Amino acid sequence: SHGHTSGTAGEKIKVCVRVRPLDPNREEEEAWTYDPHVISQAVFPAWEAKSMYRQLAGRAQVAYAFDNLFGPERSTREIYAEALRDLVHASLQGIHATVFAYGQTATGKTYTLQGTRTAPGVIPMAVHDCFANVPEGRTCRFRVSYLEIYNEQIRDLLRPETPSSKIQVLDDKEGGIIVKGLQEAVVESPLEALALVAQGEEQRHVGATELNEVSSRSHTIFRLSIESHASEDKAVPPTSKRTSILSLIDLAGSENAKLTNAKGGRQREGQFINKSLLALGHVIQKLSEATGWRNIPGSPHIPFRDSKLTRFLQPALEGNALVAIVCSISSAVSCLDETHHTLKFASRAK
Ligand code: ADP
Ligand code: MG
Repeated sequence: SHGHTSGTAGEKIKVCVRVRPLDPNREEEEAWTYDPHVISQAVFPAWEAKSMYRQLAGRAQVAYAFDNLFGPERSTREIYAEALRDLVHASLQGIHATVFAYGQTATGKTYTLQGTRTAPGVIPMAVHDCFANVPEGRTCRFRVSYLEIYNEQIRDLLRPETPSSKIQVLDDKEGGIIVKGLQEAVVESPLEALALVAQGEEQRHVGATELNEVSSRSHTIFRLSIESHASEDKAVPPTSKRTSILSLIDLAGSENAKLTNAKGGRQREGQFINKSLLALGHVIQKLSEATGWRNIPGSPHIPFRDSKLTRFLQPALEGNALVAIVCSISSAVSCLDETHHTLKFASRAK
């Protein structure tokens, strides 16, 4: 065995790694080789040829193993079918499900989630899939929310005039949490749901240069709330009611969450660390460590309250919820540092 997890049933967090194709418009050199399960650094540029540098950069490790490693030739449709479809179908059965796109800016997070005209992304695929697979004998109601978290402020992209302070994440009486003040639009068809996403994208109101800056530092959350009940169940409220949330999340660029162990202890690298992204890393790590004994009293404290993103997602990550993380990387030599960072994150999360 390569030491990777064996894909046990009931595994809470599913991690996959997607390698994007090198940009044909740039002269880039490929630094990695991969087979379906292992990715290895194969090229050592002069500056890191000495193992001394690798030690200093925390690069003792030069190969990583994963169950789901998708090379540049693999399409989003294949990734969806192999790694994500089951989770989307579980959300139709009343189980909360969350997909994260994690990775350095420009490695393909938005390409994977939104897609392009010719290569549809996970959001349209999941939406079509949900409408097409309503469980037999049940009636479903779908509602869409679309929002971003930027600088620890929530912005409702369906109702951008809502002040961030009006969107509140609160504890409810049953020990869960509820989100107040967020638009949840009832949708009757996949097209209606996707039109809201397009409308939300237009609402960002920023110029092209600013857009890059904001999109690399903000988290964009597409949320499909699924409420279903047995079709014969005419009682009010229906006795067979199930509610779940499918969240598809385009995270801030992972370069915004770097802490390095520089001289004198932990130091900030760059001027800005994305609090939500850092907190999410801690939560994911705790969740993956805790798998199997999550519900036992005394199980580890999970620091959901440390950021807006983790607090907002708390109900979608707790309990029986399912989580998949698509970690996107570039195999270019110029991205070596960030690629190691992402592969380490992916290894810790599985
Ligand atoms: P991110 O959201 O991570 O910053 P993008 O999704 O915007 O990155 O991708 C950057 C550019 O690379 C876009 O033009 C996108 O279409 C392209 N791209 C990313 N991943 C792929 C891929 N797997 N195949 C083809 N093009 C890709
Ligand atoms: Mg993006």
